[in-house]
Amino acid sequence: MEVGQVRTPAGGVWASRVRADRIRLLYESSYPAVFLSLAAATLLSLLLWPAVDHSAILLWLTALAAASFVRIALFRAYYTKAPAGDALLAWERPYVVTLLVSSAIWGFGCAWMMPRESLLHQVMILFVLIGMAGAALAAYSAIRWLVIATLAAVLLPATIWLLATGERPAFIIGGGVILFLGSSLRATRVISDTLRQNLEMTYQLRLAKEDAERMASTDLLTGLANRRAFLDLANAPFEYCRRNGLAVAAVVLDLDHFKQINDTHGHAAGDVSIRHIARLIQASLRKSDVCCRWGGEEFVVLLPGTPLEVAADVAEKLRALIAATPVPSPGGELSITASLGVAQDHVALEGLINRADQALLRAKREGRNRVACDDDGNVGHGGPPVA
Ligand code: GH3
Ligand code: MG
Ligand code: MG
Repeated sequence: MEVGQVRTPAGGVWASRVRADRIRLLYESSYPAVFLSLAAATLLSLLLWPAVDHSAILLWLTALAAASFVRIALFRAYYTKAPAGDALLAWERPYVVTLLVSSAIWGFGCAWMMPRESLLHQVMILFVLIGMAGAALAAYSAIRWLVIATLAAVLLPATIWLLATGERPAFIIGGGVILFLGSSLRATRVISDTLRQNLEMTYQLRLAKEDAERMASTDLLTGLANRRAFLDLANAPFEYCRRNGLAVAAVVLDLDHFKQINDTHGHAAGDVSIRHIARLIQASLRKSDVCCRWGGEEFVVLLPGTPLEVAADVAEKLRALIAATPVPSPGGELSITASLGVAQDHVALEGLINRADQALLRAKREGRNRVACDDDGNVGHGGPPVA
């Protein structure tokens, strides 16, 4: 991605991010529902105990407990693995399958246990089922079709059973359940749409924040860290070296007579040159080195774990590389040279850079296209002086 480019929602990526967020929301909000379901089933079993065949109740409870344990194991695996990003998508299917199995055990089990001769117990069962449906509405609203399937699995078997009896009171209760289902369908649409909008907005804000942070810490012309980001990035390795008595050096690099390049070849050619030099610097550094565009046509590199002599060699190689690599530009190749100052200091990062900057001034004074060391020239390298 180009520096300075703001990301926009790319259909597929956007949709899969929002889907992943919905799955995360399901796992993170509905774990208690498994235990509530088991508690409600136990209470319902106690209520039905006088009116329903005990072996039917025990069989139903056992099936529900088995399904709940599978769900608990699934939740625990999710929390242990803590999946993120696209990895979340693979967790949707086991969630859906185990939830639908539990819901079906609730719905079909209750229809199967309905005591034909006790209207009171039929009402009790419907009462608990509607409570379960209400809880499902709240817990699974992240995915609309899943709420609808859950409500249908929980409520429809017992409702159909009631309607099939053809008796007046059962018919009225069944009608009430159908009304509840209808209003729930509307509620799921509102909840699910609001949630989708919120998730999309959250994702949009997250991208915008990442873009803003990236742009605030990156130099737009070269893609290198800018001065502020450099001071943040370089602080940790500098402190590490300071605490552990390791050598740490800095190189300040300034392009020579760069104003002339602009004046002669134009500002655009100047920009191309700065980008070209940035690439050369980046290509010649180790992963542990930290570099930035300090400003204008000036760059700073921190070399952790590097004694002054080695840093001076690195600087000299860089100087020679820049001098030997002309910048391709529309008006022909441009020869560019750089002066570099090198220093080593353990006291403070800013002090280290200041000392390298002082050495750079000496390199400029002594003729440019050269490396000067803070350590009074013992390890300085001189390139061919530029007039
Ligand atoms: P010296 O060898 O002493 O460093 O001479 P110099 O001309 O390089 O130094 P001076 O400080 O006089 O000029 C720096 C020039 O760098 C002037 C400025 O226009 C140019 N410059 C700074 N930033 C940019 C940039 O982003 N793009 C372009 N094209 N030029 C830039
Ligand atoms: Mg300059
Ligand atoms: Mg300068």
